[in-house]
Amino acid sequence: MNILVLNSGSSSIKFQLRETAREQVLCKGLIERIGEPKGAISITASNGRKVERNHPLSNHAEALEKLIQLLVSPELGVLKSLADIGAVGHRVVHGGEDYSGSILINDAAIKRIDELSELAPLHNPPNLKGIQACKNLMPSVPQVGVFDTAFHQTMDPVAYMYPLPRELYEKHKIRRYGFHGTSHRYVHGRARALAGLENKPCRIITAHLGNGCSAAAIRDGKVVDTTMGFTPLEGLVMGTRPGDIDASLPFYLLDRGMPEKEIITLLQKKSGLLGTSGGVSNDMRVLLRESASKPLAKLAVDVFCYRLKKYIGSYIAALGGLDVLVFTGGIGENATPVRAKTCEGLDALGIELDPKRNEEGVRKEALISKDSSRIKVFCVPTDEELVIAQETRHIVENLKN
Ligand code: ADP
Repeated sequence: MNILVLNSGSSSIKFQLRETAREQVLCKGLIERIGEPKGAISITASNGRKVERNHPLSNHAEALEKLIQLLVSPELGVLKSLADIGAVGHRVVHGGEDYSGSILINDAAIKRIDELSELAPLHNPPNLKGIQACKNLMPSVPQVGVFDTAFHQTMDPVAYMYPLPRELYEKHKIRRYGFHGTSHRYVHGRARALAGLENKPCRIITAHLGNGCSAAAIRDGKVVDTTMGFTPLEGLVMGTRPGDIDASLPFYLLDRGMPEKEIITLLQKKSGLLGTSGGVSNDMRVLLRESASKPLAKLAVDVFCYRLKKYIGSYIAALGGLDVLVFTGGIGENATPVRAKTCEGLDALGIELDPKRNEEGVRKEALISKDSSRIKVFCVPTDEELVIAQETRHIVENLKN
């Protein structure tokens, strides 16, 4: 079955067309600057062909209509007709407490995802725009929603409740949800297989380190705790977000006359690696390169690793021990100095990185710990699109039975 996997953002859509029987990527690409004067669609097919279009795309519906025209065009040579698309799988950011798994999208689900926009105002609305556009363009093609929050729904209240007045949870559903669930789920499964722990009891920490960063503590396939919270602002240091900070800081700044909007921008776009490095960069590659000559670039990397190390320690405590630690995401898969610095000094806890394996284990599945390390450490490249395609196929095939 050919499945179109969509990750619809506010002005961009990432997509992959996957063939599920052989788990192949037929083509993938990006639609950018939707709603702006200069829109763009770029597609790279596994047959080696590339197609680029640069013209305005007024909204998600027009962008997806143009994409589908290109997917069936002889120029790309990927699909013969629209009928070759068996299903569409959508990344949906917030499923609240309603969804602990993926779902077939129907009118009731659309309504619920819309209501959940309250919890994810920046993410669920564009996800829904992608869903609506596909519904109009391909009314008979089943659509599936795969939620970022779903994998974390196994958390116990002891991990997801904030120690705040009870009515905040009851009235406003304020609690820890966690995000990046599809990635944590995938790399956890791969690491479990690599460690020979499938169907065996195991305790795993997954560290997804990209522009956004989060870690999860997982026991026997069930998330016990995760670092992102009510929103993706909490937890680890990220490219431009601070992760954990004292909750009173925004009020302190408000009292000193900083406008609310500026505080929000400060926390979403100006903090994290970018802020700590004094503006050098939010890009880990640049910070690692500049670390030798710019003390603040080094400080940003050090703070990033130190805070991740603290979470690893606390999750070992939460899990009562650890069998496997996994690094993934752009930083986790590539930045060997970050992995080394994070694991430095954790020998007493049973984590011993192997310097040579660490240097070589880049952008591929690799064991990067020493044979003597009690805890196995792996690099596992994430593949959220694969999970979305698999979930979509599973749900659609069950429909037929
Ligand atoms: P997103 O969360 O947007 O999907 P990615 O998972 O692609 O982001 O991760 C982006 C991060 O990965 C950036 O901080 C970037 O600097 C970092 N990164 C990518 N390649 C490397 C590399 N070779 N060395 C160090 N960091 C890298």
